[in-house]
Amino acid sequence: MDNTSNRVIVIGAGPVGLCLSLALAQEGIEICLIEQLGEDNFLEQVPRAGTNHPATLELFARIGLYEKLEPRGIIAPLFHYWDRREHRLIAEFDHAHLKDDTRFPYVLQCERIKIVEEALKMAKVHPNIELRLATTFAAFTQDGDGVVAQIVNPVGESESLRGAYLVSAEGARSIARKQLGIEFEGFTYPDRTLNIEVAHDFRRYGYTERNYISDPDEWSNLFHWKGPPDRWRVHFPTQPAEDEAALTHPEALQARLQRFLPTGKPFDIVASNLYVVHQRVAKKFRLGRAILAGDSAHVNSPIGAMGMNSGIHDAFNLADKLTRILRREAGEEVLDRYERQRRHVALQHTQAQTIRNKRLLAEKDPAVRKRNHDELRRTADDPQLARAFLLRTSLIESLREAERMA
Ligand SMILES: Cc1cc2nc3c(=O)[nH]c(=O)nc-3n(C[C@H](O)[C@H](O)[C@H](O)COP(=O)(O)OP(=O)(O)OC[C@H]3O[C@@H](n4cnc5c(N)ncnc54)[C@H](O)[C@@H]3O)c2cc1C
Repeated sequence: MDNTSNRVIVIGAGPVGLCLSLALAQEGIEICLIEQLGEDNFLEQVPRAGTNHPATLELFARIGLYEKLEPRGIIAPLFHYWDRREHRLIAEFDHAHLKDDTRFPYVLQCERIKIVEEALKMAKVHPNIELRLATTFAAFTQDGDGVVAQIVNPVGESESLRGAYLVSAEGARSIARKQLGIEFEGFTYPDRTLNIEVAHDFRRYGYTERNYISDPDEWSNLFHWKGPPDRWRVHFPTQPAEDEAALTHPEALQARLQRFLPTGKPFDIVASNLYVVHQRVAKKFRLGRAILAGDSAHVNSPIGAMGMNSGIHDAFNLADKLTRILRREAGEEVLDRYERQRRHVALQHTQAQTIRNKRLLAEKDPAVRKRNHDELRRTADDPQLARAFLLRTSLIESLREAERMA
């Protein structure tokens, strides 16, 4: 038997593909990790995820990644809900309520780009990982014995790679998912979200490291990242018909920020981009020897910080199962359990909560807004309710529920 018959081909060195590869490699499984970006452009990715929940930090610690990320991030035990119209704090939640549930009773504000940079360094030196950068996955075939992936290497030549399983961690546009004909069920919001990264200390105005700001006209999110220089990310909704160039014009960005926080002085804008938000879950997470994980399997609004976190939870769940299969300690039926567990989490937790989160922030009816805000205040003020709320928002409950599933 050659060494390819037992290896796992992982497509995509995003946070999910890298965590999966490291978790498997550390258990002695051979990995071939394919990433279309090269050394020259790997760090030039647009800003995306950045809030890492306690359960995710435990998983990072398991593969030795947490200690590399902590110095590059901000430990944030608190998060806030604000009423923008009245510039009033509605509720403050403290992860200290989870001190008996996790060894990390806080989130780590650490952007996706830092996570992939550190994880990629670890992957490069791991003897069980063959890392193929600047290499694009094009298609694959499978039979009862294994998979064959077609890739295009850095000099433009096509190659075939054999493996036992193929994991698509390619992100939302997954070629493998499309090739398998798996439906990506759900919807896309008509409005796009504007993301502005700005160097300005918002703590001076009472904000904490992570803020969800409700407003019937223009809800917002505000997150703090470690520098130098320290940056804050502000999210705003935009109208579907608005032109991208007009929305991201420097004067338009300044005007929007001044409406949000009138300082009378120009903000130091570091970056901006506009993105479309989808709420979708793949109908199947596995077909034969091909398995979907992370954004390839599910996508959701960033309000609540659940996309990357739940994708990383997929990666570790799958790593445990593939390890047992490849060591002949379990049969392939455990992959069906992976699908049951992680699809359930995607539908009942991440989709349900992120849709609710957006509704909460954008609510227009004054009576419903008042009811929502009263409810948030009551929850934050009661230690038992606050703990139950934080178990849900930090995805710990989703993991416990999945663990109980057959
Ligand atoms: C503005 C914004 C903010 C967000 N904030 C949060 C947050 O705070 N917390 C959170 O949990 N989530 C957040 N998310 C979601 C999060 O970014 C994604 O869920 C996460 O990046 C998904 O990780 P992934 O590894 O599955 O896919 P990706 O991060 O998309 O990585 C896929 C990788 O595959 C590579 N690839 C793609 N196609 C191919 C191919 N054909 N061949 C080879 N390689 C390929 C890509 O280059 C990439 O490196 C946010 C998203 C956005 C847009």
